[in-house]
Amino acid sequence: MPKSSPASRTKSAPVPAPNSGPTVTLSPRGAARLKSGHPWVYKSDIASANAEPGAIVSVLDARGRFLGTALYSSTSQIAIRMISRETSSKERASRDVPDLPALVSQRIREAITYRKNYVHNTNAYRVVFSEADFLPGLIIDRYNDVLSLQILTQAMDAEPVRGAILETLIAELKPEGIVERVDPRIRELEQLPPRDSALLWGKKSSTIVTMNSEPEGLSESQEPKAKSRNPESRESKAESPTPQAGVLFHYDALGGQKTGAFLDQRENYAAAARYAHGNALDIFCYHGGFALHLAPVCTSVVGVDSSRPALEVADKNAALNHRQLDWIEANAFDLLRDYAAAGNKYQTIVLDPPAFAKSKRDIDKALSGYKELNLRALKMLQPGGILITCSCSFAVSPHDFQETVAAAALDAHKSLRLLEMRHASQDHPILLNVPETDYLKCLIFHVSN
Ligand code: SAH
Repeated sequence: MPKSSPASRTKSAPVPAPNSGPTVTLSPRGAARLKSGHPWVYKSDIASANAEPGAIVSVLDARGRFLGTALYSSTSQIAIRMISRETSSKERASRDVPDLPALVSQRIREAITYRKNYVHNTNAYRVVFSEADFLPGLIIDRYNDVLSLQILTQAMDAEPVRGAILETLIAELKPEGIVERVDPRIRELEQLPPRDSALLWGKKSSTIVTMNSEPEGLSESQEPKAKSRNPESRESKAESPTPQAGVLFHYDALGGQKTGAFLDQRENYAAAARYAHGNALDIFCYHGGFALHLAPVCTSVVGVDSSRPALEVADKNAALNHRQLDWIEANAFDLLRDYAAAGNKYQTIVLDPPAFAKSKRDIDKALSGYKELNLRALKMLQPGGILITCSCSFAVSPHDFQETVAAAALDAHKSLRLLEMRHASQDHPILLNVPETDYLKCLIFHVSN
């Protein structure tokens, strides 16, 4: 959320509410939540709403004081999502409730500039990440020349807003295709009319993307450029275990599995490859993100996933990169138990399971799942081995996750030294006042007996 002006931090001049337009009045608890910096207020903390579904609203406290502007959802548990905070009364007087299409367009451009500064060596990255880019309910991913867009709220679904999104993306990123990926469950929750995933603009819905290529600036040019560098030099090996051209992945927005890549792990793939060696297991491998990055530095890599369609894409990705990898369709828990019992040994193991805890209620079960996986993996890791262990459950805190891995190490009689404590890639910005944006934990350990 953009910061409020310094004037707004003084307690002296309460900002009067605008005279007209849709309003939502908060309960004292809702107002307190906003004041703590979080941009969401739950339905249960709304005292009254005088607004149409999806409206841009003025948010008031119980005494009618203006707190800022928000997107309103009449059906979601998250009833309002702030888009700007209280401004001083002077500024407020000269400003109407913002024009949402124009604001969305401006914030998309700002999000693109942010990526230009911080995202390198790839043409696959998240362009807009909802609250983290001050665009609640909008997610846009770039897969080379294909853009994928997800709309999660009533306000973002309005036709003029959709128009502004497309126009801005076409002008700024010049894609060959823009695809909308629809989550029918979310549309139902938001009481939006059903829609199918479809090509919204242009002709292309599938492409090939590059991650972690050597030269910088790929996101600009879209094409990997050759850069002369002695591949045998120690320096290039230490810094760049992945090939100069990067690792290539198929992306097909509308075919087969209709899912994208886990772009949030992109920088973690490169980090993992800096330490990986020997024979490696990539557990929960999906399309082979970690496995394909480990292949150049490991003697053998096996990817494991319970989804056959995911493994089929992984295999196509291996061929695209001219790599020979093995893929095993299995339940990770069963496979790890059997392999550990059989005394199999590895030098590198990646654990990247799906979110085990969707909410706080599932935490205990999730932690026991993480413990079991990490315990079994640690038993198979040889001294000097590398464990790359991830959790993408927001409900599981970094502290709980670390404690769980530590407990697993204790039970496995192994010592762990933390090499890196990582988060999502930088195209998934983390806002300290929105803890939900810091959901991904990726820990890299050196293992000894
Ligand atoms: N590491 C991947 C992302 C993993 S997402 C990447 O970086 O791209 C989680 C994966 O776990 C999904 O592919 C899903 O099919 C798989 N999965 C879920 N439950 C599983 C289980 N019990 N055993 C094996 N794979 C499972």
